[in-house]
Amino acid sequence: MSPHEANHHSPHPESYESLRTKALESLLIEKGLISSDAIDAVIESYQEHIGPLNGAKVVARAWTDPLYRKRLLANGTDAIAELGYMGLEGSEIVIVENTATTHNAIVCTLCSCYPWPVLGLPPSWYKSNAYRSRMVLEPRDVLQEFGLDLPEETEIRVWDSTAAIRYMVLPERPPNSEHLNEAELIPLITRDSMIGVAKATVPEPRNSNE
Ligand code: FE
Repeated sequence: MSPHEANHHSPHPESYESLRTKALESLLIEKGLISSDAIDAVIESYQEHIGPLNGAKVVARAWTDPLYRKRLLANGTDAIAELGYMGLEGSEIVIVENTATTHNAIVCTLCSCYPWPVLGLPPSWYKSNAYRSRMVLEPRDVLQEFGLDLPEETEIRVWDSTAAIRYMVLPERPPNSEHLNEAELIPLITRDSMIGVAKATVPEPRNSNE
C-alpha cells in the first residue's frame, strides 16, 4: 500500500458503515417510512445548498476582510472555525488561492476526500473515475469540459486531497463586484468555484440610474 493509500479513509471494498447505511435505507423505503425521493432531496440539499453555503460565507468574508483572508490562508481550519464551521472530515483544511496567473482545483485521486464542513457532500462527478484520473493528467482539458477556458499562460495547480488534508479553493473576486457587500457577494460563490472547476459568477453590470 502506498503512503497515499494508507492515508485514505475509504477502504475498498465498501466499508461496513456504507453497507449498513444502504441496508437501512432499503429497509425504511420497504416499510414505507420514507421515499427514495425524500432521501435524494436531502442529499441534494447538502450537496448543492447547505454545505457550499458555508464555504461561500468563508470566501465572501475573505474577499471583504483582508485580515480574515490572511488568517484563512495561514491556517484554513482555524479561520473556518471562527465562522463556526468544523467537524467531520474537516480536521485540516488548506485554502488555495486563485490569482490572475494561477488557477487551483481539487481532486481526490483515490476516493472522495472533500472538505465537508465548508462544501458539504461531494457531487457524484467528483467521485467518478473519470474526474479522479483525468483531473491530474489533463486538467486543462477537463476544465474546458466544465466550461472553463483558461488562457495558456495561466498555471494550473491540482491538489490531491487525502484523509489528512482537504483543500478548498478561494476563487478570485469577479469583476463588477466592487460595489457589493459581504452578503451580496455570497450568491456569486458557487460550489464549483470552490472546487476549482469554475470561476465565481460575474454579477450583472450595475444599473446606471441606481
Ligand atoms: Fe479520498
